[in-house]
Amino acid sequence: MFENLSERLDKSFKLLKGQGKITEINVAETLKDIRRALLDADVNFKIAKKFTDDVKEKALGQEVLTAVKPGQLMVKIVKDELAMLMGGTFADIQLESKPAVILMSGLQGSGKTTFTGKLGNMLKTKKGKNPLLVAGDVYRPAAIDQLKVLGEQIGIPVYTEEGNMDPVKIAKAAIKLAKEKGHDVVIVDTAGRLAVDEQMMNEISAIKKAIDPDEILFVVDSMTGQDAVNTAKEFNDRLDFDGVVLTKLDGDTRGGAALSIRSVVEKPIKFVGTGEKVDALDVFHPDRMADRILGMGDIVSLVEKAQEQFDEEEARKLQDKLAKNTFNFNDFLKQINQIKKMGNLKDVVGMIPGMGKAMKGMEIEDDAFKHIEAIIFSMTAEERENPSVINGGRRKRIANGSGTNIQEVNRLLKQFTETRKMMKMVSQGKNVQRMMAGMQ
Ligand code: GDP
Repeated sequence: MFENLSERLDKSFKLLKGQGKITEINVAETLKDIRRALLDADVNFKIAKKFTDDVKEKALGQEVLTAVKPGQLMVKIVKDELAMLMGGTFADIQLESKPAVILMSGLQGSGKTTFTGKLGNMLKTKKGKNPLLVAGDVYRPAAIDQLKVLGEQIGIPVYTEEGNMDPVKIAKAAIKLAKEKGHDVVIVDTAGRLAVDEQMMNEISAIKKAIDPDEILFVVDSMTGQDAVNTAKEFNDRLDFDGVVLTKLDGDTRGGAALSIRSVVEKPIKFVGTGEKVDALDVFHPDRMADRILGMGDIVSLVEKAQEQFDEEEARKLQDKLAKNTFNFNDFLKQINQIKKMGNLKDVVGMIPGMGKAMKGMEIEDDAFKHIEAIIFSMTAEERENPSVINGGRRKRIANGSGTNIQEVNRLLKQFTETRKMMKMVSQGKNVQRMMAGMQ
C-alpha cells in the first residue's frame, strides 16, 4: 500500500536538494509535486490543496537550522501534516460499559463480518475480554454461517436466532444474554447493501436507537477510494458513528481513503484490516502511518510486533552480538524463523525503514526464505559461525549442495554483510539520522 505515494513524495523532497533555505520560490515546485502525488493517490482535490497550503505555511515560517537541510525539514513537516490529516493521535474504542456494545455498519462486502471476528479475537487475546458476537445480518444466511465459522475458529460464542428476521430483537436479546452470562463486550454485525439505500439506513438507525451502543464503527473497503469517502459521509450523516475501520489495506489501494476520510467526516480511523486472516488487524496510529507513507518504515510497529514474538533474553543476546559484530548465520536463521512467525512477510518487511521503497515491484512470496534457508543449511558449522571463511570454492560447494547457484549464494553473503552493518547501526541508534541523510 501507498508505494506510489511514498515514491512520489520522496522525489518531491529531492527537488529541494542542495537548497540553502526554504523560500517561496524554491519550495513551489516541491509543493506542486506533493499535491500531484496526493491527487494521484486519490486524495480529494480540496484536501490536497489545503494540505499543501498548510505545508507551505509551516515550511516558510520555519527557521532552517544549520544542522538540518531544507529537504529534511520538509520531510518532517510533511510527515507531521500527514499524521494530522489522518487524525493526529491514536483513538481507542469505548469498552467501559458492562457489557460494552459495539455496532458495525457499512456496505455489503466492505468486510464487516470479517472485522467482527477480527475485533472479537483481538479483544479476547490482547485485552483479556470475553466477547459475544451477534449475527445481525439476517438477509444473508451465508453471513450468519460465516460468523459462526469465524466464532468457532477463534473460540468466541456467536448469538444467532434461526428464522428471526428482526435484527433489533436479535440484538436486544443478545445483550440480555451477554449480561446474564457475564460477557463484557457484545459486537453486533449487521446487514449491508451493495449501495446506500433507505431501508438499510432505517434498519441500522433502528438498531442504534434500540441498543444505544457504546461504539458505532463504520467499516469501509479502502480499495474503493473516493467512493469510500462518500459512503462514509452518508453513513455518518445518518448514524453519527464513532470511528472508521479501513479494510483491505493490504491490497493495491492508493491510499486516498485513508488520507481523506478523517477530514471529511471528522471521525477517527480506529482500525485497519490488512488481510483475510483473523489476525490481520492493526489498531490505527496516524503518526506511524505517516512514517510508513514516507517510506521511513514503521519502526515502532515493527518493534511492537517483534516484542510480541521475541523473548527478552534472546533479544538481549542479539543486541550483544550486534554490538560486538559477532552476528552470524545461525543467528540469521533464528531471525528468519522469528520473522516468519510475525505474519505476512510483505507487511513486515515494509515496516523496516527504507525497505518499502527498495522492495517496490518485488514479489515477496511466503516461502521467500526457502532458498536462503537451503543455502545456510548447506554451510558447515564453521562457515555459519564465521562467514568470512567462505571463499570461492566453498561458495561453489554451497551452491551445489543447496540446489541453488553461485549468484544466489553471492547475493545472500552480500545481503548478510549489509544486514549486519545495518543492524549494527540500528543497535547504535544511528538509523534515523542516516536515513534522513539518505533522503537528500
Ligand atoms: P461484509 O459483507 O461486510 O460482512 O464483508 P465480509 O466480511 O464478508 O468480507 C468481504 C470479503 O472481503 C471477504 O472475502 C473477506 O475475506 C475480504 N476481506 C475482509 N477484510 C479484508 C482485509 O482486510 N483484507 C483483505 N485482503 N480481504 C478482506
